[in-house]
Formats: sequence, C-alpha cells, structure tokens
Amino acid sequence: MKQTCPAPSYAFKYRSRPKSGNEINGLGETVKRKPVQIFHSSGFRKVEWEAMELFFLMTMPFKLFIKGLRSRWLLRKADGTIAEKRAKVSDPDAMARKIKQVAGQFGAGAAGITTLAEEAQFENIEKPYKYAISIAYPMDFELMDEHVTDAKGGLEALRAYTEITHIVIKLAAYIRKLGWPARAYCESADILHIPIAINAGIGELGKHGSLITKEFGSNLRLATVLTDLPMTVDKPVDIAVDDLCLACQRCTKDCPADAISNAKQLVRGNKKWYVDFDKCVPYFTKTYGCGICIQVCPWSKPGKGPGLSEKLLSNRLSGSH
Ligand code: SF4
Ligand code: SF4
Repeated sequence: MKQTCPAPSYAFKYRSRPKSGNEINGLGETVKRKPVQIFHSSGFRKVEWEAMELFFLMTMPFKLFIKGLRSRWLLRKADGTIAEKRAKVSDPDAMARKIKQVAGQFGAGAAGITTLAEEAQFENIEKPYKYAISIAYPMDFELMDEHVTDAKGGLEALRAYTEITHIVIKLAAYIRKLGWPARAYCESADILHIPIAINAGIGELGKHGSLITKEFGSNLRLATVLTDLPMTVDKPVDIAVDDLCLACQRCTKDCPADAISNAKQLVRGNKKWYVDFDKCVPYFTKTYGCGICIQVCPWSKPGKGPGLSEKLLSNRLSGSH
C-alpha cells in the first residue's frame, strides 16, 4: 500500500453514545439468532448508529456525496412490473447457467446462486424470496493502493457501487421479464451481502471480516438480486482462506484502529472472524470508507489469488502449512 494512513483521532465526540455495535452484533453470544441492522441501512428505518452514518455523509466532499446519492437514487428501479406470462423452468441447471451468463454480459466480475438463508436477513426485515444471486464487481487495485483512506479511494468505491447497482438492476429486470419476481439490492441494503456471497460460492470470510475471492481477493464490492426464479444453487467454496489467515497477521497489524482480532470469536452462536465494530466504524467514517485491511490482504493483489489458493491447498494435502 502506497499511502500513509491517518491516525485514529477523531473530529467528533458522542453527545449520547450509541449502544456498542459489538453488543448489538451479538459478540460473545452462544445462541444463534438473526443479526440486527445497525449502520448503513436503506434509510427507511431507525438504526442505532445512524448519527455516525449521518456524520459520514455530511462530512464527505461534495463530489463524493453526490456520487453516493446518485448510486442510491438508481435503486428506485430495484423493483418493477413482472411480465404476465411466466416462463416455465424445466431445467434449473440451464437457468442458473443462463442467469450467470447474463450477469457476465451486464458486467459482473463473478456471480453465484444460493437459497436466501436466515443469517443473511436482519431481524424483523425478512424478505419474501427463495433465491439470492450474488454479484461481485472489482475495484481498481492500483488506484485504491494510492488512495485507500482519502476521497479518491471513496470515489472509486462509489464508482464500483454505481456499476454494480446498474448490473443488479438490469439482472432483476431481466428476470421480471421472464415473469418471475426479482428485486435488486446494493449498498446500504436491508440484507447482508457477505453471507449470501459465501453461500453462493463467491468466496470465503477473511480475518478482516470481508469476503475473499480467488479472482479479486477482497478488492471488490457486492450486490444481490433476490428472486423466486427456480435455479440450481451453488455450494460454498474452499480456496484455503483460513489456511493463510491463521498464519498471516497483515491486516491485524496494519489496521490503525486496532479493530481486527487474531482469533475467531463467538458471534450469535457461531465461531468466526469478527471485526470490532466500535473501533472500526469511527475510523471508517473519518477516512471516506477505510479499506486498508482489504488493500493489504495478499489475496487482493491482482492475479495472485489462483496461485495462492493452489499452493495453500496443496500444502494442506501434504501437511506442510
Ligand atoms: S491480510 Fe492476512 S490475515 Fe488478513 S484477511 Fe488477508 S490473508 Fe487473512
Ligand atoms: S476498514 Fe479494516 S483497516 Fe479500516 S478500520 Fe476497519 S477493520 Fe481497520
């Protein structure tokens, strides 16, 4: 990473401190339950950390604010009229292939399909769809390397969000033309894109709490189409993310906010990698959407993932990692 990152000191204080995000997220809880929405909501309901979100939006340079607004404005077309004549799906395998091909034509970097699981839905914001199509779209690695904590980095993230929003809107419209319900979800959505992407075989969860894919590492943005169109679902992949995360400490050491733990933690009944919400979000807010941890991750270096995965998997087989 070519940029020197600002220190974790902040231009704000809490008038009334929000409830800890870690507590809301269920850190340390042994019983499984659905997550509760807390930050980055669609704006239609009250969430505990909305004052921080407002601060994030209001302190952005104007160009960034407008781009963010435009990306959200596009989502007015997330849903629409469903064609009266419904296409029969006699071969869900072929339909899954077709949908992925169409997603690729619309510009998706990767696409995967899964059923809409409980863990991808917030408490009291359940969605009435059976399937989820996960879409990944890469960012410009070189640009992010130089601007990961400044406004240009924020602009690149929003450019990727704008592109991926176009993709999911077009894909949802394509499915509705087949006579099946479909709705596009992107940034600040009322669903969780990462568990959907993991179940759809796009990648695995890394120590830095983000998705890691073989093709783009973590240098990507995610969006989702929810639908009832019958399709064969994908399986989660094993590209050996844990094999490296258990030995590597790059993101832990480079996170200025000291938010990344070296050990998996119990969260709502599941042991998994977890990022300290209360430490990460203020720094994220200060830096136009900090992405240091995804930038320094070895998987994110363009072209590195396939070879890295192959090496780690073969080391695992030979017992030498
Ligand atoms: S930087 Fe290292 S420890 Fe962190 S997510 Fe990437 S591989 Fe895992
Ligand atoms: S985005 Fe990553 S590097 Fe930045 S503060 Fe959060 S956990 Fe740390």
